[in-house]
Amino acid sequence: MPDEVTAKELKGKLRGELIQPGDPSYDTVRKVYNGMIDRRPRLIARCANVADVITAVNFGRQNKMLVAVRGGGHNGGGLGTCDDGLVIDLSLMRGIRVDPAARTARVDGGCTWGDVDHATHAFGLATPSGIVSTTGVGGLTLGGGIGHLTRKLGLTIDNLLSVDMVLADGRFVTASAEENKDLFWAVRGGGGNFGVVTSFLLRLHPIHTDYAGPMLWPLEQTTEVMKWYREFIAKAPEDINGFFAFLIVPPGLPFPEHLHNKKMCGIVWCYTGPLERADETFKPIRRFGPPVLDLVGPLPHPALQSMFDALYPPGLQWYWRADFVNELSDDAIALHVKYGSQLPTMHSSMHLYPINGAVHRVGKRNTAFSYRDATWAEVIVGVDPDPANNGRIISWTKEYFDALHPYSAGGAYVNFMMDEGQERVKATYGENYDRLVDIKNKYDPTNLFRVNQNIRPTL
Ligand SMILES: Cc1cc2nc3c(=O)[nH]c(=O)nc-3n(C[C@H](O)[C@H](O)[C@H](O)COP(=O)(O)OP(=O)(O)OC[C@H]3O[C@@H](n4cnc5c(N)ncnc54)[C@H](O)[C@@H]3O)c2cc1C
Repeated sequence: MPDEVTAKELKGKLRGELIQPGDPSYDTVRKVYNGMIDRRPRLIARCANVADVITAVNFGRQNKMLVAVRGGGHNGGGLGTCDDGLVIDLSLMRGIRVDPAARTARVDGGCTWGDVDHATHAFGLATPSGIVSTTGVGGLTLGGGIGHLTRKLGLTIDNLLSVDMVLADGRFVTASAEENKDLFWAVRGGGGNFGVVTSFLLRLHPIHTDYAGPMLWPLEQTTEVMKWYREFIAKAPEDINGFFAFLIVPPGLPFPEHLHNKKMCGIVWCYTGPLERADETFKPIRRFGPPVLDLVGPLPHPALQSMFDALYPPGLQWYWRADFVNELSDDAIALHVKYGSQLPTMHSSMHLYPINGAVHRVGKRNTAFSYRDATWAEVIVGVDPDPANNGRIISWTKEYFDALHPYSAGGAYVNFMMDEGQERVKATYGENYDRLVDIKNKYDPTNLFRVNQNIRPTL
């Protein structure tokens, strides 16, 4: 552990800030998105630029500190922070440069997706990301990246052209299809295991106005909705994305009063084909058991991307469980109905995100993200503002997960996992795990970067 003098030396070398226990901003800066996580790092290096990141990585290694890297701080298990160690906090590094001619964006490692959508929308462009705009580009991208554009454009990593990184030994490298190819393969799904990504180069697509929003059905219709949805989404045009959700209707606009606080099921749609064909495309959807509430219509892309931000502000208590799913059998649907009708709190939910379409066109071995043949990424989240309800949200999430796990594909999306042990990490990477270990041995043999879904080196 570094003493005061050594910490002062680090402070002197940074353009950004060094925050320590006792500093007035310590309790604000150490907070992460999940209010259930309460860690107390020894040092927080709020890096202003790549030079600061190199300094911080070298400092962490030389002083044998536990090192955590923070992007957006959204990780469910709190993997953007740690107790007693050094947090390399990228949240001041938020620059973005859009190249409209090349249709790319160069995005700094601490950006959120809201930053990216804001910058690219001005040019009528977008790239696949997640469904909450305060989520970090760093963690979401390095784990894969699933969202509203997945079926059409693939995972976020399928739109990643290169990364700039600081490695465990302090070297700065670029990884792409041409340079450091093994590293580029590994960072596309392998999380923060291989170094600190200081910038991402992302491919952009002409997407400006979606035809999007939620449709809700009564909870009693869940079986019918799920059976229809599993058939529909398997063959739907790739211009349509739709994720299934259980919810308790929030008591406020835009929801009509008679639905407030009702348990319901829904699908959040995003159509990005020609707008003049949207109504026609949605006819079969609307024909199937008309929804009780239909909020689907033209929407600027960033409005969809931030639709759930107000419902999920930072600081709520979150407990996560997840799996990949190949098939939604009748038996699995019966269990979903059982646990969906027991939603413990207004913010709790279960989502089924489709990962077919464009995701399936990339081979299982082409990137570290291994579940290319799954149909959905399932996530069960127990969420509430009040820590007094933690017992309820945790037990509901665990019981729901345990009941459905036998119907899953085995592993889970790393970005939806908490700390679930090494066997789960191995199951998630499947046949790609051994190659990831080889690359970890090459680039981080001492496991400096281990506050993540860890690929353990074997040297
Ligand atoms: C409300 C909410 C909504 C979500 N929605 C989606 C969604 O729609 N789709 C989806 O795919 N995921 C979603 N997620 C999951 C999300 O992808 C993960 O929580 C992810 O880890 C968040 O990344 P972050 O940078 O914000 O997190 P952090 O907690 O900062 O970091 C998470 C992990 O990534 C590493 N990391 C972060 N940035 C870097 C970097 N620049 N270089 C190296 N390592 C880095 C960290 O070390 C850590 O191990 C959601 C999460 C929340 C809380």
